[in-house]
Amino acid sequence: MNHITVEPKRIAIIGAGPGGLTLAAILQRSGFQPVIYEREPYNMNRDRGGSLDIHEESGQKALEAAGLLEKFKEAARYQDQNLRVIDKNGKVYIDETDDENNWDRPEIDRGELCDLLLSAIEPNCIRYGYKLERSVLLENGTTELHFENGSTDTVDLLVGADGAFSQVRSLISDTKVEYTGVTMVELNILHAAERYPELAAYNGNGKMFAMGDQQVIIGQLNGDGRIKVYVSLKVKRDWIEQSGIPFDQPLLAKQRLLELFEDWNEMPKQYIRCAEDRLIPRRVYMLPIGYQWKRQSGVTLIGDAAHLMSPFAGEGVNLAMLDASELAAAIIRNETIHQAIQEYEENMYAYSAEKAGVTDESLRMMFSDNAAEKLADWMNQFAGAEHSEA
Ligand SMILES: Cc1cc2nc3c(=O)[nH]c(=O)nc-3n(C[C@H](O)[C@H](O)[C@H](O)COP(=O)(O)OP(=O)(O)OC[C@H]3O[C@@H](n4cnc5c(N)ncnc54)[C@H](O)[C@@H]3O)c2cc1C
Repeated sequence: MNHITVEPKRIAIIGAGPGGLTLAAILQRSGFQPVIYEREPYNMNRDRGGSLDIHEESGQKALEAAGLLEKFKEAARYQDQNLRVIDKNGKVYIDETDDENNWDRPEIDRGELCDLLLSAIEPNCIRYGYKLERSVLLENGTTELHFENGSTDTVDLLVGADGAFSQVRSLISDTKVEYTGVTMVELNILHAAERYPELAAYNGNGKMFAMGDQQVIIGQLNGDGRIKVYVSLKVKRDWIEQSGIPFDQPLLAKQRLLELFEDWNEMPKQYIRCAEDRLIPRRVYMLPIGYQWKRQSGVTLIGDAAHLMSPFAGEGVNLAMLDASELAAAIIRNETIHQAIQEYEENMYAYSAEKAGVTDESLRMMFSDNAAEKLADWMNQFAGAEHSEA
């Protein structure tokens, strides 16, 4: 492992999501002392989303750089990588079991992943309750930070790991996120195996995608036994407000959602019927594919802040962690922050644009006619290409 050989720099990371935490863990391991500023009052990653598949070439690579790969492998759910893809009539196009799939993409719940990263970080390097309100580029290359709670700081390197609606991004670029045309409603089926054994068996150990009519129902087994359900619809941007669905009244809202799937097979509809708690509607946004910003000597972005994309190819968290490890390596390797940023950004622009393209293709396919059949063909081609490369 390399250690700092030059004057220590003051590094601020905005955001304690998977990207910011990974960056802090790797930098600390090499003797740097970054500070993470997080707007929430405490670690809220457990409440923010479900199971994530961590890819060998990105997420796992970053965990290795953080010295956490072995612990990850102990915690990860290798048995939960199965996939079932059906159409609206219940016709099965993909039905993978453990023995059949060749992925190295074990699952871990987001909260557990972030706890693992936190275990490698000195607690006093994270400041909770610090929402970045604005920042100012100073002539000497440093950046002045102003937080909602009245605190200020001045740093040599500011890293925006502050997600989709990044405040740091607005310092270096005018580009805004765009609505993808898809809105998701999140539901949860708690203790699925005990309470709904037939549905749990149907879902299997992993994910179920039911697709048709430009609508997708996704069932995703989580580590705590719940099936997280994402009802995804190709609708106008203001659908949440205009649909008239009372999302704060779960029973009624579920009934209204079911009406959208009236002529669908009963099994995918069960995912909506069996969900017991609140419904969370969300618009899905993205940054333009190939998004870049004007280089600054002391500011950069990682993760969703740098290349927000839809979740339909499962790349977001993996890229956030890969960015963190690439930026950390560049900081460790280079004499100056400016050189480090240049090296990191050139590299990151190339790989993230490629993944953003694949993700966009995946979204278009899932909301097109004959989506299940197309997805099956696409995945077979993809698997074929991986085999021939191996
Ligand atoms: C419904 C859904 C399902 C998804 N499923 C998957 C999946 O299966 N696989 C996958 O790889 N990805 C998935 N993603 C995407 C994944 O969650 C993100 O790509 C990932 O969390 C990005 O990590 P990040 O660290 O860049 O940002 P985030 O996780 O968004 O973290 C940003 C952090 O910055 C903090 N912050 C924001 N603004 C400020 C501020 N002004 N000051 C201080 N702190 C601030 C936030 O509170 C947060 O803690 C999904 C996303 C959604 C919405």
